[in-house]
Amino acid sequence: MKMTAPAEFKEKANPLNFDDIDESVIHGILLRRVLSIGTSSQMAMLIAAALMGFGVMGIGNEKLMWALIAVQVAVQVVVAMVNKMVQQKLDAHQPDHILVPTFVFLKGLTGAVWGLMMLPVVANLGTGLGPLLIFITLIVTITISAMLTTAVWSISVAAVTGFFVTLFPQTLYFYDVLGPVPLVVTLVLSPTLIWITKEQSKQVRSALVNELQNERLALHLEDALQQSDYLARHDSLTGLLNRRAFQLKLSDLRQEQPEAEISLILVDLDHFKSINDNFGHESGDAVLVSTAEIIDSVTRPDDLSARCDEATARWGGEEFIIALVGCPIEAAASVSERLRVRIAAQADPNWADGLSVTGSFGIAIWNHQEDLADGIARADKAMYRAKISGRNQVELAA
Ligand code: GH3
Ligand code: MG
Ligand code: MG
Repeated sequence: MKMTAPAEFKEKANPLNFDDIDESVIHGILLRRVLSIGTSSQMAMLIAAALMGFGVMGIGNEKLMWALIAVQVAVQVVVAMVNKMVQQKLDAHQPDHILVPTFVFLKGLTGAVWGLMMLPVVANLGTGLGPLLIFITLIVTITISAMLTTAVWSISVAAVTGFFVTLFPQTLYFYDVLGPVPLVVTLVLSPTLIWITKEQSKQVRSALVNELQNERLALHLEDALQQSDYLARHDSLTGLLNRRAFQLKLSDLRQEQPEAEISLILVDLDHFKSINDNFGHESGDAVLVSTAEIIDSVTRPDDLSARCDEATARWGGEEFIIALVGCPIEAAASVSERLRVRIAAQADPNWADGLSVTGSFGIAIWNHQEDLADGIARADKAMYRAKISGRNQVELAA
């Protein structure tokens, strides 16, 4: 029996402190998101590369272009392998200092090869539509690739930087042929892309932090609801059901077994006021807790030969109530007698010398045609008879 609110409620007392969301957890989730779309973004790059290979035919250095495409494919294969290895490390929660930097480096290499792919047609830029289309395709593809990886900004930066490092010298070297436009476009594009991806990266990160906070809040609310539900149904001192929860439980039991005989046992501790007066209120509380434990253990179904359904509650100050469902009154009387003996015999080394307690019992059958209050009133009357006939005894209702 849980005599107080479950301990786990107390441990999670302050889960609304959001400052402690671990940076490595955030990084791990973001990295996983980038890695999970790796294959589709690689496929898009390879399709674009193949189209450029065909697009360059007849207008430039086809052999160099296909060689660069072959290098690009090779780099992408290695990227895919490292991607898989990083994911395995993440799954295994192993620390990593090599694979992720390698992945970032390879992304930079991809960008560099991507920039080099301008080389076969760079001298022809401005002379026809094909080279221009290749230039645009390269820029669009590197932009998309960088935007897809903003969750881990270093990957975006690596790709854009690699691209810039190989494209920029070409625009310089072929300046006489190309004029200033490609040079300016390249110079403006790279920092702009890096800035946009940085902003995007911040947004992705804060969206994730919100997501994690919401998850945590939902867990906290679930805990808080469970806790308040528990506290609303249980007596805080003894952990037994309180009066309202007992009434609800009995009405459920009655609905489940409308015709069943339900015995009600009302227990009132004898001369309890004098325990408080003589030994102090705390001692009185200790007696209530100990008595509740006895009542709970003696009436638990596996302790009953008749194996009845049962409900036990603290009915009031030093009064307890037990309902035994589907139990004949004789079984209820024998449970009451065992309880009476156990309550009178209870002792605790922490208790003051001379501290003992007894209880008076009243039993009534709750008829399925009457209100619960009427059944309890008859049990109460029987209990009163036990009081006036000397206390520490069990009486059956007439
Ligand atoms: P009787 O044998 O006739 O039942 O006598 P009694 O003294 O047990 O009955 P009475 O109704 O006069 O007193 C009950 C006492 O129980 C009074 C009250 O202070 C005490 N009591 C009620 N709730 C608590 C509690 O939670 N803790 C403690 N320590 N005492 C309580
Ligand atoms: Mg009383
Ligand atoms: Mg009493």
